[in-house]
Amino acid sequence: MKIVVIPGDGIGPEITTASKKVMQAVDSKFNLGLVLEDDIAGHDSLKLHGATVTDALLEKVKAADGLILGPMSTYDFKDESKGEINPSKFFRKSLDLYANIRPAKTYPGLASRVNDFDLIVVRENTEGFYADRNMEQGNGEILVTPDVAISLRRVTRQCCERIARAAFELAQGRKKHVSIVHKANVLKIADGMFIDICHQIGKEFPDVAIDDFIVDAMMAHVVRAPERFDVIVTTNMFGDILSDLTAELSGSLGLAASVNAGKSNAMAQAAHGSAPDIAGKNIANPFSLILSSGLLLDWYARRSDIPNYAKAAAAIDRAATEAILAKEATKDIGGTLGCKETGDAFASRILNSSY
Ligand code: NAD
Repeated sequence: MKIVVIPGDGIGPEITTASKKVMQAVDSKFNLGLVLEDDIAGHDSLKLHGATVTDALLEKVKAADGLILGPMSTYDFKDESKGEINPSKFFRKSLDLYANIRPAKTYPGLASRVNDFDLIVVRENTEGFYADRNMEQGNGEILVTPDVAISLRRVTRQCCERIARAAFELAQGRKKHVSIVHKANVLKIADGMFIDICHQIGKEFPDVAIDDFIVDAMMAHVVRAPERFDVIVTTNMFGDILSDLTAELSGSLGLAASVNAGKSNAMAQAAHGSAPDIAGKNIANPFSLILSSGLLLDWYARRSDIPNYAKAAAAIDRAATEAILAKEATKDIGGTLGCKETGDAFASRILNSSY
């Protein structure tokens, strides 16, 4: 498997170095034959190439099987005509990475303010309220007058169908329960369609139970009783917000892993941002990107049917649970180690394990 690795901005280089170390460990332990190719995007690329991302980089990523994208300072990138393109948007749109899979769970030994839970947010990733990427040409945000702005939301049958199917397929291998999150009481047409399509796709999975929740009430439900949920399917913006909440409920935003999956490409990406407030201090939690890299291996395992990739993904998940219990982790999740030392300890744990 060929993977392009991009460090990103802020804490990106620190957590990407740790993740690469873990990928090298699983590669050697499970004979994966991984090829990790370094490249740049974001501020590094803007300085060197005059743009945060380039066509040459896209071609390289298309030719690879996967991408590990470090967090980007996307808020800094405001003017596309100056090469300031949001790399996250660029790859999601150019590679049609329509399913953003964001698992969150509690861990033994890590104090949590809520009951134990294990859920996955499945977020539509290519349209919705993301006006910078939901148009074929141009931008879905319009400044009508200096004091009037309009942001368009797009919801299509095709995107609803494929995200619903991704959610039901995941649920089949878990607790067989899909919860639809929407705002159909206000967005009656678009979210009404989203709910209807989810139910239609659900008929293909008769063993999977379905319920639905209005997004604002969902914020209360998921805090009050997160253990009720298994797979949650929702549109782009709602999923972005809800998954930061579920990550924080699991113990820290530093545990927020995700994979952006399409038909033939996938991108591992921490769900959080570049955390400039802690950049360069060796205190960032690398688990988010390490776990995301594990999800990428899992995606590849399903696609290629090579069992060792599934074993490597499971090993990363298990090592994270054990490391948290052993407090071999950063301070935000109860450990005492720096970012680099956490990555080193994680890699050693895998290499010395019997799994
Ligand atoms: P953020 O997610 O970077 O940080 C929010 C808080 O969580 C901060 O206190 C930060 O220190 C903490 N945090 C985040 N990751 C952590 C980790 N691994 N370990 C420990 N603590 C961690 O959000 P922000 O500060 O609002 O945004 C910073 C930049 O990131 C902005 O430019 C924003 O646009 C961008 N951003 C990018 C992405 C992405 O690339 N997908 C996502 C969200 C935000």
